[in-house]
Amino acid sequence: MRRVETVIVGGGPAGAATACGLAYLGREVVLVERAHGPHHKVCGEFLSIETQSHLHRLGIKPAALGAVEIDRITVCFSTREITTVLPFQALSLSRYRLDDALLQRAVSLGAQIKRGVSVRSVRTAGDGWTVSCDDAETLHGRKLVLATGKWGLRGPSDARDSSLVGLKMHLRVPSDVRDALAGRVKLALLDRSYAGLQLVEDGIANLCLLLPRAVVSRVGRDWQATSDYLAAAAPKLAERLIGAKPLWNKAIAVVCPTRGHLHHEDEPAVYRVGDRLAHIPPFTGDGIAIALGSAALAVEFIREDRAATLYLAAARQLTGKAIRLASIVSDLAVTRAGSRLLLSAAAHAPELIRDIVQRTRLPSLSAITSGDGTVRTNPSEGASPAHDV
Ligand SMILES: Cc1cc2nc3c(=O)[nH]c(=O)nc-3n(C[C@H](O)[C@H](O)[C@H](O)COP(=O)(O)OP(=O)(O)OC[C@H]3O[C@@H](n4cnc5c(N)ncnc54)[C@H](O)[C@@H]3O)c2cc1C
Repeated sequence: MRRVETVIVGGGPAGAATACGLAYLGREVVLVERAHGPHHKVCGEFLSIETQSHLHRLGIKPAALGAVEIDRITVCFSTREITTVLPFQALSLSRYRLDDALLQRAVSLGAQIKRGVSVRSVRTAGDGWTVSCDDAETLHGRKLVLATGKWGLRGPSDARDSSLVGLKMHLRVPSDVRDALAGRVKLALLDRSYAGLQLVEDGIANLCLLLPRAVVSRVGRDWQATSDYLAAAAPKLAERLIGAKPLWNKAIAVVCPTRGHLHHEDEPAVYRVGDRLAHIPPFTGDGIAIALGSAALAVEFIREDRAATLYLAAARQLTGKAIRLASIVSDLAVTRAGSRLLLSAAAHAPELIRDIVQRTRLPSLSAITSGDGTVRTNPSEGASPAHDV
């Protein structure tokens, strides 16, 4: 059995950023990721301003990876649409590039990464945790960070609610569509669901949908069926798909909870980061910021050897408000009456969309932690940014 200080399970943005932070501090860390190499993930691939500032702190430059700028949002419902300027300049970059860049950064900082290896089980043992991997290695970590994304080690059987399915397709679009999409994310409100379209690197467009499971079972995942469905359900969005060529045979898919939620307490507690800590409805496009923000917080607490229960309390404070509001807006947006109401209100006051985007962001880490990593009781006092890595 190999004994290490910290074992991280999962190498998405949350796990990789935790590995970067700990390795930068000179801590011994082993991260286990089941995928063999770079891979596509279901995601709108929208990088909010908070995500960008975390990436900057970690030494990742999205522009150098090909990210494109987004400064407007067009919300459409049926044949109506409203465009407004975002409250910040967002970026768009495929998860294929982003996630790999974060893992490579962790390696360059000294983290050990086991790629292509799944963790089968974890259990408490003595002063830490025993982590059994499917390559026959067993690790003993004094600290354990769970960063396995939406599902735990048992996969979707851990689901609280899995009524929605996220789908993603990358498309090669004609130049007039590319020009029309430049600088904007287009969000279509559908019946009980929504779809987003935006450019990512190399002139590729990313179409990401969140649909009820029953709709996906009926429509299927091949491109013709998906585009036919959108032509009927979201004609304004479908206009931008004319002449688009799918880069894969089928959309990739992931089962997804409908509402936001925060983790339930474990006994004994572990450092949960990213989606394993908290799920924010994808509508807001800030899940990666939660992944990176919770990772930075976990690094602070592990550095100070503070208990996972204290970390979880701080993490709840960091994410709770944005998740609650995002859940309310997302619940509203996915009903026919609610999306009509939202769009009518936004037609009279387009700043409403900006306001919603603004209010579903995370507070900065410095708003909730003191220099010693303790949780502030009064978030308005002073500030201490997480370390630059
Ligand atoms: C439809 C949709 C659209 C979204 N759009 C956006 C968006 O535009 N912008 C945004 O910021 N967020 C968006 N999100 C949210 C975002 O994708 C997630 O919040 C983010 O991926 C969370 O990162 P993570 O590291 O916690 O999890 P993940 O990225 O899911 O990473 C978890 C990793 O753990 C690995 N793993 C799992 N189990 C094991 C195991 N047993 N052993 C080893 N490895 C394991 C997996 O292979 C995976 O790489 C969207 C989500 C959905 C569903």
